[in-house]
Amino acid sequence: MIIIKQGGGEIISGASMKDVPNILWLEEIRKEDIISVGGKGASLGEMASIGLPVPRAFVVTAQAFRRFLVESGLDQKIFTMSDHLDVENNEALEKAADSIKALVLKAKMPAAIKDEIRAAYKKMSANNLIVAVRSSATAEDLPDASFAGQQETYLNIKGEGALLSAVQKCWASLYGARAIYYRAKQGFDDRTVNIAVVVQQLVRSEKSGVMFTSHPITGEPLTIIEGSWGLGEAIVSGSVSPDKYVFNQQGEQIAERMVAEKKIEILPDGDNGTKTVEITGTRRNAQVLSDDEVTKLATYGKIAENHYSVPQDVEWGIVAGTIYILQSRPITTIGNKKEAKGMSGQKKEAKIILQGQGAAPGTAAGKVVIIRDVKDTGAVKEGNILVTRMTNPDMVPAMRKVAAIVTDEGGMTCHAAIVSRELGTPAVVGTKTATQVLKNGQIITVDGEMGLIYDGALEMAAPAKTTAAPMAGAAAAGPVITATSVKVNVSIPEAAARAAATGADGVGLLRIEHLILGLNKTPGWFIANNREEDFVRELHDGIKIVLDAFPGKPVWVRTLDAPTDEFRNMMGGESEPHEHNPMLGWRGIRRDLQSPEQFRLQVDAFKRLWKEGYENLGVMFPMVSHPDQFIAAKEMMRGWGVDVENVTLGIMIEIPSSAIMVEDFLKAGIRFASFGTNDLIQYTIAIDRNNENVADMYQPKHPAVLSLIHGAIQMCRAYNVECSICGQAGSDPKMAVWLVEHGIASISANIDAIAKIREAVARTEKRIILEAARNRDAE
Ligand code: PEP
Ligand code: MG
Repeated sequence: MIIIKQGGGEIISGASMKDVPNILWLEEIRKEDIISVGGKGASLGEMASIGLPVPRAFVVTAQAFRRFLVESGLDQKIFTMSDHLDVENNEALEKAADSIKALVLKAKMPAAIKDEIRAAYKKMSANNLIVAVRSSATAEDLPDASFAGQQETYLNIKGEGALLSAVQKCWASLYGARAIYYRAKQGFDDRTVNIAVVVQQLVRSEKSGVMFTSHPITGEPLTIIEGSWGLGEAIVSGSVSPDKYVFNQQGEQIAERMVAEKKIEILPDGDNGTKTVEITGTRRNAQVLSDDEVTKLATYGKIAENHYSVPQDVEWGIVAGTIYILQSRPITTIGNKKEAKGMSGQKKEAKIILQGQGAAPGTAAGKVVIIRDVKDTGAVKEGNILVTRMTNPDMVPAMRKVAAIVTDEGGMTCHAAIVSRELGTPAVVGTKTATQVLKNGQIITVDGEMGLIYDGALEMAAPAKTTAAPMAGAAAAGPVITATSVKVNVSIPEAAARAAATGADGVGLLRIEHLILGLNKTPGWFIANNREEDFVRELHDGIKIVLDAFPGKPVWVRTLDAPTDEFRNMMGGESEPHEHNPMLGWRGIRRDLQSPEQFRLQVDAFKRLWKEGYENLGVMFPMVSHPDQFIAAKEMMRGWGVDVENVTLGIMIEIPSSAIMVEDFLKAGIRFASFGTNDLIQYTIAIDRNNENVADMYQPKHPAVLSLIHGAIQMCRAYNVECSICGQAGSDPKMAVWLVEHGIASISANIDAIAKIREAVARTEKRIILEAARNRDAE
C-alpha cells in the first residue's frame, strides 16, 4: 500500500511518488489502493477485477493531483494560505477558498498528466464517449473522506477539453469554503488530504434495478431481482413498484416472475439531471427482464457473493442488451427475521439504562460516540450511536451515518426528532443525562418507538434504515383512498423520494429553514457577502427536488422560520441578536416583514419555480398573529411582481391569536390555513415544546387547544377554504380521528406515520358515513 504524507512540500513517505502512476485503470485497482483512488474507485476496481461487467472507467490518482500541486508550485502557496487561515472568520474563509480554487483552476496541468488523461479517454472509446467525472477525496487517516460539500460530480462530460476541465474542477472542489471549514473543524490537516477523480462511462440505463444475491431475510440460496424501466433511482427511491424475479440457485432456474404495473420511469433530462415520466401503453405492464437476462444477472450476483464471501445487494442497469453492474455491497438485513422473533423475550430480560421520548421509530444497536462539539463529528463512524446534548444542522452529515441518535434535550419536534424521522434513523430525545450516563464505546440498543435505551446489543435490533424494498412494497399495495387528504411533511430534500413513496396527497409543510441551515450560512451572510444569487439558487434547487417528487400535487412551502439561536453556529451567526426567548422572538413572518431583502430572496426562488410551471407550489407564512401581517406580506410580494391573486398563499395557525381571528384572515384572502400545533400548544398552555423538564405537561389534546382548532376548522369550512394540520399532533392516529370527526380537510403527517394516519382517516370516514346511513334508516 502507498502512503502519502505531505509535509513542507515533500510528498511521500513510505513509498516513492514514482510508484503510483497518474492513471489507474479499473482492472489494475484493488481495494487496498483506496488511498490512491478513494473509496469509489477502489470498490469499482475490485468488482472489475473479478470479471463483473462494470462500466469502463479509469481513475486520475491522488498522486496525479499531488504532482499537479507540486509542479505548478501551488502546494506551498495553498498550504501557507490555509495555515494562516482563521476558518471562523467567514469573510477570510470565503476569500481564501475563492482564491485557492481560482489558483487551482488557472494553474497549468502538467503536460504528462494531460496527455495521459487524453490517452486514457481515447482508449475508452475512439469517439468521444460520454462520461461521468466524480471526485473522491482521500485522507491518510480516513481513506474515504466523504466531507460534506466536497464530492463534486460532473455528469454528461464529452470531449477531451471538457474532460480535462472537469478533472481540474474536481481538484478545485477540494478547496470549497465549506470543505475547508469541515476539515478544520474535524481536525484534518489539509496537507494530508488528497483527491482522486473517477472517469467512468455514463450508463443511461433503459432498464435497471437491484438484486439480492441471497434471500435478504432468510439467507436462502434464492436470488431476488427487482427491475423496472429507466434509471435506477426509481427503484432505489421506492417511487415505482418493480417487477420481481426469483432465481433458485440450487435448481438453477427462475422460480417466480411477478410483473408489476410500472407507472413511472426516471429518465435523463437532456444533458443535465433527470425527469420523472409517466409510463403509458403496453410497457406499463410488460415484463422488464427476459429469462436470459434474469439468469445472467443471477450469475453475476453469485460471482460477487463468492468473491466477497457474503450475500450482496447489487445495483445493475441494462443498455442495448448489455448488462452493467453499478454497485455491490453486503446485505445487512439477513438474520433480522430471527432477531425480530426474539424481541419480546429479550426485552423483558434486558436492562433499561435510560429513558426519553421515542422520536423516530425503529430499533438499533451499536457503539456510543458522544459528541460535545461539532468539530468532533469526525469521530462518528458508520453504524455508531450518536449521543449528544442536541443536534444541530452542522451535524446532519454525521446523522446520516449513524444507526441511531440519542439526545439529552428536546421533544418530539426538535431538530434531532425531525431530521431523524426523515432520515429513517431511530432516535430517542430528551433523556436529560445521556451524555453523562453513557460512555464512549459502550454498546447500547436504542428503541426509538418506546424511547428506551438498553445496555448491550439486544438481538431485537432491526436494521436502522428503511430499505427501498419495503417502501416499494408499500407503494405496490396501493394507497387507501380517503376523502380527507393525507399529506406528508418534508424538511430535507433528500427525504422527498421516501416521502413521495408513501403515496401522500401532497406536501402539507416543507420547512425551508432546514435547507438553509444545511448550507451553514445565515441568510444575512449571503446578503452581506453579495451572494444573494447563491441563496436563491440553493433554495430554488432544494424546493424543486420536492416539487419534482410530487408532480401535480400541492406542495406548501413555508417561508423561513428558524429562531435566532439555530442560526448562531453558522457563518454569519455572530450577527444574530441574542434573545432571552428565541421561541417568542425574531422568527417567521415577523422577521421577514422587517427584513425585506431576506423575504425578497425567498420570493425570487418561488417566482422562478412558478415561472418554470410549478403551479402546485403554495406559500405558507409561519408565526402570523394578525391579518395585517398576511396583507403586508402579500403586498410586498405584489410589489416584487407576483400575481398574488392567482398564486396559493396561506398561513399557519400556530399562535392563539390567529386561531381566534381566523375569520379576518379568511376575509383577507388566505387560500388555506394549517395548524402548527407544535407551537399552538406551547403558546396556548405556556409549555416550552423543547424543554424536557415540562415535557409531561405538554398536552396536545388540552381542551383549550382543541377548542381553538375546532373553532378555526368550522370558520374555514364556512368560507370553503382548506383547513389542514402540519404539527406533530397530526401524526397521532387518535388525534387524526378527532380531526376528521371535526371536519378537517387535510392532515399532513411525518413520513413514518402516513400509513397509520391514512388508515385512521379511512376508518373514521367510513364510520361517519355508516352512522349517517343508519340514522337515516332509523328516521
Ligand atoms: C408547528 O409549529 O406545529 C410547526 C409545524 O412548525 P415548526 O415545528 O417548524 O415550528
Ligand atoms: Mg411552528
